[in-house]
Amino acid sequence: MGPDRILIAGGGIGGLAAALALAQKGVSSLVLEKAHRLGEIGAGIQLGPNAFHCFDRLGVGEAARGMAVYIDQLRLMDAVADGEICHIDLKDRFRARFNNPYAVVHRGDLHGVLLKGCRDHPLIDLRTSAEVTGYDQDGSSVSAKLANGETVKGGALIGADGLWSHVRSQVANDGPPRVSGHTTYRSVIPTELMPEDLRWNAATLWAGPKCHIVHYPLSGWKVFNLVVTYHNHAPEPVAGKAVSDEEVRRGFTHVCERAQAIIRHGKDWHMWVLCDRDPIDKWVDGRVALLGDAAHPMMQYMAQGACMAMEDAVCLADALGKAGSLEAGLADYHARRVLRTARVQLMSRAMGDHVYHPDGPHAALRNSLMGAKSQDQWLDTLQWLYGGNGLD
Ligand SMILES: Cc1cc2nc3c(=O)[nH]c(=O)nc-3n(C[C@H](O)[C@H](O)[C@H](O)COP(=O)(O)OP(=O)(O)OC[C@H]3O[C@@H](n4cnc5c(N)ncnc54)[C@H](O)[C@@H]3O)c2cc1C
Repeated sequence: MGPDRILIAGGGIGGLAAALALAQKGVSSLVLEKAHRLGEIGAGIQLGPNAFHCFDRLGVGEAARGMAVYIDQLRLMDAVADGEICHIDLKDRFRARFNNPYAVVHRGDLHGVLLKGCRDHPLIDLRTSAEVTGYDQDGSSVSAKLANGETVKGGALIGADGLWSHVRSQVANDGPPRVSGHTTYRSVIPTELMPEDLRWNAATLWAGPKCHIVHYPLSGWKVFNLVVTYHNHAPEPVAGKAVSDEEVRRGFTHVCERAQAIIRHGKDWHMWVLCDRDPIDKWVDGRVALLGDAAHPMMQYMAQGACMAMEDAVCLADALGKAGSLEAGLADYHARRVLRTARVQLMSRAMGDHVYHPDGPHAALRNSLMGAKSQDQWLDTLQWLYGGNGLD
């Protein structure tokens, strides 16, 4: 590969998707991943139809469809009253409306599908133990600086290096992410340990005051993914720290017995203190651009961070393919992505306040408004998100 190859900092879902999208357009790339091996931590991830629109454009549609569990509903439960507030039916009408399904997958499986696609493609090179610390550029190339002192030259650099992106520090120089004060605990339990009356084929959200619980079946129904979150105003960012069962239970003593019982089955909990950022306009610096969490880190409450990263990848390759120059292509990519991702970033935050964690009359208003919606109204509400593929 010559210097015109595109350098991609980060081999997560966004970085690998970018390499695949570029390869589909005949553009070569080199992925520089900080870790010693390529992989994903954590268990489940939800994928809206917009993710499946992307899989097809990345050339991995069939493999991606093969790894998913297709759930029937998104179900919202009142974690205090122990009753359903509303659900969104994900079966035939939903699929017909958005031309694709809604699914849950194991993160490792999703990353594995993208990684196999990259490994199989002659235009993609992957390099591990390659931490990008910054870059230099002139009018015709970019040099990525690595932590070991080496520099790697390419035609452009895509910063897909996640929440704590070094590339972003240089492009936008906007300080550290915002610590949300929401603490998330993750666990996986064997399906036979999930209370029998809750083994729903749904992504279920139990919403309670300042806390919520999410569960869904995973890995061919062998396990249930549990993600529980407590708004405890944690002041410092934390990622993947092991915590005791008691610590997790402490935040949920005020929810109904059925919801508490789900948590009691969790084991080997790990915790994250969630961070996001306000949307910004500066994603591009000459031949360098941001993508995925590096560009628009968001709370997980719309289950869209990875979906947006894949949309970014598809749009980036499309924009570069159409533009007369690299700089014009990156500018077009940014222009086409910034409002859509800002909308998801801000709505994800708002959903934490107004859907996931309200109390008292605020929660009663949520129940009244969301419970009154018909299935057609839900489909209309979701059209902007699931109807698109991020290219517009
Ligand atoms: C609890 C939780 C639940 C979520 N649920 C969903 C969901 O259901 N659906 C959904 O779509 N999204 C979900 N998300 C969001 C999703 O996980 C992220 O948005 C997505 O993983 C972002 O991908 P990325 O490739 O941009 O960044 P990352 O996944 O962070 O990948 C960045 C990669 O870059 C590497 N790296 C970091 N720094 C450097 C460097 N300096 N040089 C080289 N490499 C570097 C990292 O090792 C990593 O491999 C969730 C997030 C959380 C926290």
